[in-house]
Amino acid sequence: MPTAVHVHLQLRIVGDDGTVFTDSEILRLEKSDHRLEAVGLSISESKSLQRRLQQHVVTAQAATFVDRHRCCPTCGRHLCNKGKYPIVFRSVFGNVALSSPRFYRCGCQPADSQTFSPLTELFTGFRQVSRQNARKTQWVVYYSTLGITTSGNLARNLTKPFRVH
Ligand SMILES: [Zn+2]
Repeated sequence: MPTAVHVHLQLRIVGDDGTVFTDSEILRLEKSDHRLEAVGLSISESKSLQRRLQQHVVTAQAATFVDRHRCCPTCGRHLCNKGKYPIVFRSVFGNVALSSPRFYRCGCQPADSQTFSPLTELFTGFRQVSRQNARKTQWVVYYSTLGITTSGNLARNLTKPFRVH
């Protein structure tokens, strides 16, 4: 008879075009039932799971956003890359380090700057979201990643205990 259970949590993130962003084990636990406090997830295990899940989800979302901005929206020409630099996306479930590419703008349209960074534009948009909406967004993202559907009312009620960075 087993004296413990081994928990291997596999995460698979797939784009709506079938692109696989993640297909890996994100958590491995060995849980015994020798003590009451060992039953179920501990707070530190739960936080670790949330942090790892957030890293994978944000990384996949950033990758899809960058891919959608690799080409000129007007003429479709592939944009030249001017390099990349590290950025950090701060969230209630931990910071996520990302590599942010910078692209040259296409010459077919006049622009104020020669280059742009899609992720900077994405995250600047996030900053403009009000604090309350940001809280809702975090919860909706959290529950969506766990496969739980939330209604607007539930998302609103679940926003109170969390601080948004
Ligand atoms: Zn163009």
